[in-house]
Amino acid sequence: MSNSRDLLGRAQRAMPGGVSSPVRAFGAVQGPQIFLARGEGAHVVDVDGNRYVDLVGSWGPLILGHAHPAVVEAVTRAVRDGLTFGATCRNEVELAERVLRRFPFAERVRFVNSGTEAVMSAVRLARGVTGRSRIVKFEGCYHGHVDNLLVKGGSGLATFGTPSSAGVPAEFTALTDVLPLDDVEAFTEHMRAHGDAIACVIIEPMPANAGLLLQRPEFLVALREQCTARGALLIFDEVISGFRVAPGGMTELSGLTPDLVTAGKIVGGGMPVGCYLGPAASMDQVAPLGGVYQAGTLSGNPVGMAAGVATLDVLDAPDSYAQLEARGARLQAGLLDALHATGTAGSVARVGSVLWMSLQDGDTPRTYPDIRAESAALYGPLHREVLRRGTWMAPSSYEVAFVSTAHTDADVDAAVSAVREGLAACEATV
Ligand SMILES: *Cc1c(COP(=O)(O)O)cnc(C)c1O
Repeated sequence: MSNSRDLLGRAQRAMPGGVSSPVRAFGAVQGPQIFLARGEGAHVVDVDGNRYVDLVGSWGPLILGHAHPAVVEAVTRAVRDGLTFGATCRNEVELAERVLRRFPFAERVRFVNSGTEAVMSAVRLARGVTGRSRIVKFEGCYHGHVDNLLVKGGSGLATFGTPSSAGVPAEFTALTDVLPLDDVEAFTEHMRAHGDAIACVIIEPMPANAGLLLQRPEFLVALREQCTARGALLIFDEVISGFRVAPGGMTELSGLTPDLVTAGKIVGGGMPVGCYLGPAASMDQVAPLGGVYQAGTLSGNPVGMAAGVATLDVLDAPDSYAQLEARGARLQAGLLDALHATGTAGSVARVGSVLWMSLQDGDTPRTYPDIRAESAALYGPLHREVLRRGTWMAPSSYEVAFVSTAHTDADVDAAVSAVREGLAACEATV
């Protein structure tokens, strides 16, 4: 019996679905899930010794690849001095300064332990600052598993959200309005009608949790203008895009100034860290200075902070973002070639080192309803074929791929070959 199969039985007996987070169960690709033992640079190794080029990067944090020596060294040094103090530490100040340097609009940052917590806290702050209750989110954007953001739109353009998870009372989501992406008119109309009651508008400025739904600049500009006009705060959820697509994320790339930014993933360098940031006038309304309560036993712990500092310092190398761009472009070109060579309908959306191959014809989707079921149908078999050929792709067609500074041209080319051969193998069996 393989180690993965042995662990699978034990995992499924001990943990719901055998996982700590649902997508890991490989359900969307008719799995069996595989258990990983090790990560080295651009590669992961499973418990049976199989090696893969990693295109998942732990879902975003690993912009330097696995176990980067500088990060391992920093974490090891921090660990020797104690895992957590429950008091402020030097590493925390160091990371705070590094984060704020990359987001010049912000003057203060508060650390938490996950992206979910960052979003939950930022929304609470927005409500505290404005004294308003309602919030707006967009269909297809994911902001963690906080109750009042586990919401889907109903029918019609501007809708009160309905819970997208059991266990979330409709009363909790009644204050969340869900609007379509890429629709300036629907948004403007909604703000005209309800803007005075809206505390904040939250968006992934580069929506990357339901494919990669690239938004036109005009759409983000309209959000900024309407929020300013109506006194609502604009929150950019940069948990994926922050430090990834540019040092200052989509805030930097878009040239827009949000009121608050949420971050996670890369900011912890592979440790559980999130944060939210903004101007002093709003951030100082968080406790202890202000009346908006938010706290955390392990928040700002020295080990997570050390991993974040080391990661951002390595990224400071002058060519790191150019390198990410080059590897991303190479992977995009290779995947497009593979689609073309095998006669498979599809497209590859990309921003820097974030990519999404959608397996449907026509334009690359920009909104959630544009994603069609046919894409997912081919993805399951493709995932199995690609895995067999030594490339670790996300086990869901809705998830993006990431490359890191550890990926070489050869790693990218190996992944492309796996996808090309995988697509050909799928064609042969239909
Ligand atoms: C991953 C993610 C979150 C949630 O972060 P967790 O650390 O998983 O809680 C929130 N927002 C966005 C945009 C994300 O990609």
